Amino acid sequence: MIITEETQLRLICEEVKTVKEGEEIGAQLLKELSESQTGIGLAANQIGINKRVCVVNVKEPLILINPRIVEKSEEQFMFAEGCLSFPGEHIRTGRHVSVIVETDNHEGKLSFSAEGEDINNAFECACVQHEIDHLDGITMFDRAMVAQPYRAPEKIGRNEKVTITDGTQTKVIKYKKALPLLESGWNMSEIQINT
Ligand SMILES: [Zn+2]
Repeated sequence: MIITEETQLRLICEEVKTVKEGEEIGAQLLKELSESQTGIGLAANQIGINKRVCVVNVKEPLILINPRIVEKSEEQFMFAEGCLSFPGEHIRTGRHVSVIVETDNHEGKLSFSAEGEDINNAFECACVQHEIDHLDGITMFDRAMVAQPYRAPEKIGRNEKVTITDGTQTKVIKYKKALPLLESGWNMSEIQINT
């Protein structure tokens, strides 16, 4: 049973004490995820267990026990997300282009990056961030990109984030980093991230 009450989803999850406990929760999550048929990730509080365990199943099933994002790129990308706890709803979010994650059940660090030809890179990278957010009571709506009124380029600060697109992909980067891309044919979107 997947929880849809927002008050429940806002609770901050507690660390599991042992990897074994985490693996048991992870197995339940993967089972629930496969039954959902449409989901690619699930966090324990979405099934009523307020523990820091989540699963992602894009390239392969991954159980993340007590996951921590230890590094993240400043650069973001735009992604259209859904959530099993908000059936039928979709929202454009801003996610870090790359994140490095530590867990209690994987040796070393796990690295996720949206870059590359394979669209699954972006799905997996956004999904990991979405699921770890759940464990902190954060939903995709908190990561929404917000449309802002158009401003003339000369009024945009060099360190201010802007959204640019080349028609197929979208990046959220500092204006000074966007300038060379804008000269090579990228356009600035009217959608800018709220930071
Ligand atoms: Zn979700």
